[in-house]
Amino acid sequence: EGINIQEIAKQFHRDASEIIKKLLMLGVMANQNQALSKEVIELICVEYGVEPEEKHVIDVSDLNQYFEDARANRLEENLATRPPVVTIMGHVDHGKTTLLDQLRNTRVTEGEAGGITQHIGAYQVEANGKVITFLDTPGHAAFTTMRARGADVTDITIIVVAADDGVMPQIVEAINHAKAAEVPIIVAINKIDKPTANPDRVKQELTEHGIIPEDWGGEHIFVEISAKMNLNIDELLEMVLLVSEVEELKAEPNRMALGTVIEARLDTAQGATATLLVQDGTLNVGDPIVVGNTYGKVRTMVNDKGRRIKTAGPSAPVEITGLNDAPQAGDLFVVFEDEKTARQAGEERASKALELQRDSKKKVTLENLFDSIKDGEMKAVNVIIKGDVQGSVEALSASIQKIEVEGVRVNIVHQAVGAINESDITLASASGAIVIGFNVRPTPQARSQAQEEEIEIRSHRIIYDAIEEIETAMKGMLDPEY
Ligand code: GDP
Repeated sequence: EGINIQEIAKQFHRDASEIIKKLLMLGVMANQNQALSKEVIELICVEYGVEPEEKHVIDVSDLNQYFEDARANRLEENLATRPPVVTIMGHVDHGKTTLLDQLRNTRVTEGEAGGITQHIGAYQVEANGKVITFLDTPGHAAFTTMRARGADVTDITIIVVAADDGVMPQIVEAINHAKAAEVPIIVAINKIDKPTANPDRVKQELTEHGIIPEDWGGEHIFVEISAKMNLNIDELLEMVLLVSEVEELKAEPNRMALGTVIEARLDTAQGATATLLVQDGTLNVGDPIVVGNTYGKVRTMVNDKGRRIKTAGPSAPVEITGLNDAPQAGDLFVVFEDEKTARQAGEERASKALELQRDSKKKVTLENLFDSIKDGEMKAVNVIIKGDVQGSVEALSASIQKIEVEGVRVNIVHQAVGAINESDITLASASGAIVIGFNVRPTPQARSQAQEEEIEIRSHRIIYDAIEEIETAMKGMLDPEY
């Protein structure tokens, strides 16, 4: 695996063109530099009467799996506490950017104050002598897009709610996104400096969405802040550290680095640059690396303060150069022992990605529901409900949750009044959900995104029909048409 025709040709002391011809005769189209599958290599070996030799290579065809394995095999004695990675979510104009700016301007490590000159998509602040990493991409679009790509980077989410405005639909979405990802939520009630601020109303409204403050007998931490006036920001950071202690966030600093792409772009001067969040291990300048479907060697590394650095440990965001192409936000990265293997793995991944694009991933649809349930793959059927009025959304949600087939139930990931929008589709993609619209339609953007990501949207005008359709699909009695 991971070997290309040129190398095979060398091994057999043949011309690459001869091998390409042989493959053509066997019905396989290939060019010189393309990585060949195991099957094709076996074909060539048979052609030349050679026993194919098993070559041990790290299997990175599935980086998520590689990640999981690496984390499952961590040794307790190598583990060290790592800084939490925090995302800020909330409704537009409630103060996310102000909070991020306030943190950046006032809480930067001493000696480096004012030193953050560039924006790399994440930065670190210090509180009580401890470090906290903030993802500097306001809005949950980034958060869910990453999750949809299989990357869980956020340890804690701060949901900002303006005290003079109250709980808006986007906040409910943010809450549901965080819940779906099982990420702990801290609520920052912002703008308490305003005379019209009414924090109790915000608490009351959030209670309706299952977010109940500790002093009301719930389990959620609320902090009343003013991002603009720099009020209670220290307290907010302390709460972040508290939650982070409870979560016991650990990493193995002494292994080869693993992590996720926060941002990436192609720069005319520098080529591909990518902001990486190191999630485990330590990243070094010179490390051979595979990032999504790209590869290379870390040529330069810059931290969030714009300083050139040589190493970066767990939870550190860094901007690197040295990749052959720009990866995508949410891509995973893995460091390799040597450059050649990294290159082979990167090429193999790139060609597999092309193939995958063709026969794209299996998504949850009503047609395959029953099979997934039967195979025991599915513990719950995730559903997102959008409707024209609150009453019908609630009625539909309540009835659907009563359905049970072979021990499998319906889990409502998100329900709200309004058209089916892009955020719904992203959430559906991240959580493997089906979207049900009751007397509402998808927006044109949502429709095309759903098509692209193969998210199933079902529209109904009668509650009973919607319930019956789900139940029938779960029982595997759906007519195989559409
Ligand atoms: P975002 O859309 O959530 O990023 O919100 P912004 O950070 O852009 O804030 C929207 C508006 O609210 C701006 O005019 C801010 O100056 C203002 N704002 C943010 N935080 C506070 C606050 O704590 N108090 C007051 N009075 N205004 C604030």
